[in-house]
Amino acid sequence: MALSQRLRIDDCNMSIDPTDIRIGDLVRMRKPHPCGGTDWRVVRLGTDIGIVCLTCERKVLTPRGKFIKQVKVQLERGPDIPPLPTS
Ligand SMILES: [Zn+2]
Repeated sequence: MALSQRLRIDDCNMSIDPTDIRIGDLVRMRKPHPCGGTDWRVVRLGTDIGIVCLTCERKVLTPRGKFIKQVKVQLERGPDIPPLPTS
């Protein structure tokens, strides 16, 4: 894919900071989606992390702990915006 070529990601053991997940983060998962895609965009934060497959555009909710384990590498960071105050 053009994206991976452009970013030239090394296959290292870099893990992500579980406290620093942002809306808009682009991540590559260890396990490919049934559609074959491995790259996902974070669209929702909470107890469950909402991610959209960039290949088939399907949205999936994954428990935070599972998400952290499954992420292989962060390809892109979302904008650094402060979290919305909880009411
Ligand atoms: Zn998919």
